[in-house]
Amino acid sequence: MVVNTIHWFRKGLRLHDNPALRDSINGSDSLRCIYILDPWFAGSSNVGINRWRFLLQCLEDLDASLRKINSRLFVIRGQPTDVFPRLFKEWEITRLSYEHDSEPFGKERDAAIQKLACEAGVEVMVRISHTLYNLDRIIEINGGQPPLTYKRFQGLINRMDAVDSPAETITYDVIKNCTPPIRDDHDDKFGVPSLEELGFETEGLSMAVWPGGETEALMRLERHLERKAWVANFERPRMNANSLLASPTGLSPYLRFGCLSCRLFYFKLTDLYKKVKKNGTPPLSLYGQLLWREFFYTTATNNPCYDKMEGNPVCVQIPWDRNPEALAKWAEGRTGFPWIDAVMTQLRQEGWIHHLARHAVACFLTRGDLWISWEEGMKVFEELLLDADWSVNAGSWMWLSCSSFFQQFFHCYCPVGFGRRTDPNGDYVRRYLPILRGFPAKYIYDPWNAPEEVQKAAKCVIGVHYPRPMVNHAEASRINIERMKQIYQQLSCYRGLVLTHDYIKCKRYQ
Ligand SMILES: Cc1cc2nc3c(=O)[nH]c(=O)nc-3n(C[C@H](O)[C@H](O)[C@H](O)COP(=O)(O)OP(=O)(O)OC[C@H]3O[C@@H](n4cnc5c(N)ncnc54)[C@H](O)[C@@H]3O)c2cc1C
Repeated sequence: MVVNTIHWFRKGLRLHDNPALRDSINGSDSLRCIYILDPWFAGSSNVGINRWRFLLQCLEDLDASLRKINSRLFVIRGQPTDVFPRLFKEWEITRLSYEHDSEPFGKERDAAIQKLACEAGVEVMVRISHTLYNLDRIIEINGGQPPLTYKRFQGLINRMDAVDSPAETITYDVIKNCTPPIRDDHDDKFGVPSLEELGFETEGLSMAVWPGGETEALMRLERHLERKAWVANFERPRMNANSLLASPTGLSPYLRFGCLSCRLFYFKLTDLYKKVKKNGTPPLSLYGQLLWREFFYTTATNNPCYDKMEGNPVCVQIPWDRNPEALAKWAEGRTGFPWIDAVMTQLRQEGWIHHLARHAVACFLTRGDLWISWEEGMKVFEELLLDADWSVNAGSWMWLSCSSFFQQFFHCYCPVGFGRRTDPNGDYVRRYLPILRGFPAKYIYDPWNAPEEVQKAAKCVIGVHYPRPMVNHAEASRINIERMKQIYQQLSCYRGLVLTHDYIKCKRYQ
């Protein structure tokens, strides 16, 4: 029997460690690699231009790599449920492969496609490679419930089988017996679309700070490991002014789109550790960041309401305020707090911000200052972050707003002091808010306190050229901590916190 295969790329946009693709090649007479995209939907989706550009660059890179091994990427325009029945017939398909998607809406989509495949007599091959572990297995050994603390999660990981080694990279030798027929009009029919085709206006669009694709991801991984080897103690580098800027060793958008395999990253870290520490056994903390990612994926996998308050069993129901005007000021970087506005501007322009910068703006929006729901902040991140990831984004927002997983609501970040400690000179603020360039370091984080002559000399009068602070932070955070305290006191799980001590801690944060 002739075996005609489709490999469906969704995330997992790579040829290295792609077990679904590798296994689907075995015994295939023809293999077509496809990506499905609906250009009519693209322009109207809640995803910003930077992430679309990143995705298209990933697809271009994948197509270029497939060309090198005598194949091509077929970008199919449409919706999966419409597209598959047509492709199954047209290409006489007998096998379909794809990477397992652990997220609830992905599972629902895949169940519908499996049904269509079954009706068409098409065999379906699914492999896990977007996460380190089989998440269902983690939940199973936890008695059928997702772990709700990171500590518990680490305990479960210790009981799991070792992480599978990455699958070998797809090369010409692996694929040569099943390369697909490519027509002369391939580019017209199946080429990677441009941003314009997706309905985006590209005039004045600046160069991508984070270029998409597997090739770039693998180069970054090498640089990332070189830096780690140089640091050698494998601790997370301390945050400083430089770490706020996009780094050529940053990996999160690449892990998000699967241009980089988390398992390759995991095994490279292990190898490096063993080399540097002369065969020492790596501690779990070596993989800390990857395990946080895994934790959020695990807690989200069976919870379709994970990105909402309503109907979400892991989310504390906090009566947040509805304030569209304040939300817009935060989202557009017009709060009047230079540190917050610089972070939000960097996010909008470049699509990435540092982890602690995410803490700062998330705390400010929710329990710190504005008392606006984490759902609203999550949506803005969803639009603007290159690494926006349904599970990690929602989980982190719940965490930061003390809506789940984390309850130390008395720890809040000061929108002036935090920036000043990180970058005392204020260069980061000047870079993203050029209007404040003329302020001396002394006032760059609280320019409203600068004497009139300093504001005039800086050619920026507060309240005229740059907004006044939208809230009184000391007052707002005091009231909000009190509100949180009352909410937690009402919860049955509240175990009583030593507030005098905790208020002291909070003061230290400010
Ligand atoms: C409010 C908020 C929202 C966030 N939203 C996202 C998101 O949508 N997508 C996302 O990938 N990360 C998110 N993070 C986590 C974290 O900020 C980013 O993963 C990190 O900043 C990426 O930078 P890096 O590549 O230098 O990561 P590194 O520190 O080098 O870590 C390597 C990888 O580990 C993972 N990782 C690192 N830290 C975390 C963490 N705390 N939680 C989960 N995974 C982590 C990421 O995949 C990252 O690429 C969010 C954090 C906060 C506070």
